[in-house]
Amino acid sequence: MKRIIDTLYETADLNDEDIRQLLEADFSVDEYLFQRADYRRQEIYGRDVYLRGLIEFTNFCKNDCYYCGIRRGNRTLERYRLTKEEILDCCNLGYGLGYRTFVLQGGEDSYYTDRYLCEIIGAVHEKYPDCAITLSIGERAKDSYQAFFNAGAVRYLLRHETADKTHYESLHPKEMSPDNRKKCLFELKEIGYQVGTGIMVGSPFQTTENIIEDIRFMQKLNPEMIGIGPYLTHPDTPFSCYESGSLKLTLRLIAIFRLMFPHSLIPATTALGTIHPEGREMGLKAGANVVMPNLSPTKYRRLYTLYENKICTGEEAGRCRGCLERRVNNAGYKLVTSIGNYI
Ligand code: SAM
Repeated sequence: MKRIIDTLYETADLNDEDIRQLLEADFSVDEYLFQRADYRRQEIYGRDVYLRGLIEFTNFCKNDCYYCGIRRGNRTLERYRLTKEEILDCCNLGYGLGYRTFVLQGGEDSYYTDRYLCEIIGAVHEKYPDCAITLSIGERAKDSYQAFFNAGAVRYLLRHETADKTHYESLHPKEMSPDNRKKCLFELKEIGYQVGTGIMVGSPFQTTENIIEDIRFMQKLNPEMIGIGPYLTHPDTPFSCYESGSLKLTLRLIAIFRLMFPHSLIPATTALGTIHPEGREMGLKAGANVVMPNLSPTKYRRLYTLYENKICTGEEAGRCRGCLERRVNNAGYKLVTSIGNYI
């Protein structure tokens, strides 16, 4: 296995058979794999960990993804939306705490028309010109993406979820199209966004072959950001009977992605912190270099429940940031407040 990890370290690539062996190897290989991934990260980004302020501005969603707690079909969930003023309040709070990236994330909610979103993005951009605006609002038309870019958004997160058509169709209802999701990603790239994509590790029916296909898709897209976290069960979804994904496989994939995409920005996700109390620290040690604490108003946080037992739903933003800074330091890294662009 050392040969495979060394090849990955030296060439940033592996053939399918070597990826398969690495993904399926026993966990004794991880110490060496994580050490190589951490070394590569430090060559490019040092010990810096970038801070992104997450603003979950709507939990309305027109989609009905079988795994997601804010899916349209979850009638038990109380829904909320933030106004432009409330979003600006979150940014104001975040700016004071040192945040220089705001991530506006939400369900696919047509209440936020292109015009209203441009107004929101424009207002944030005007007030905080030294900050990056990241969007994570799902699939829209290329013209809309262009309008958001013109208004001041520069990064976009859109996980492809799975590159395999059959697997995609087993996770989503038939009105959702894997081809359209991929098309959106390439359009975002064409426009000039820094683009993030990714997968849920251990989503129902996922196979090793699916993950190999994900890697090949990502090599074609060449994303600047890679969002991966374990799939976590939500009781009010059709997938409530499926087990959550594995912490260990998620960490292994973070390390593999760090070695394959050395310059990428990889968050130690909230899902990782939810599956294990020190999951985010472990993610950093495996090659992640971004953390995304929550800036949403505390009263709404428990309503943005993609999965069960989500952490950080009760803490106010200042405490969240302080807690994460301690965690990052304890893991041996340094939380930095710069804009944190792709190098
Ligand atoms: N609507 C936007 C979109 O489609 O990209 C952003 C919001 S969506 C809820 C953000 C991400 O949450 C999804 O890409 C998915 O990977 C993740 N997610 C949803 N349900 C999850 C679950 N049960 N476990 C882990 N991650 C989940």
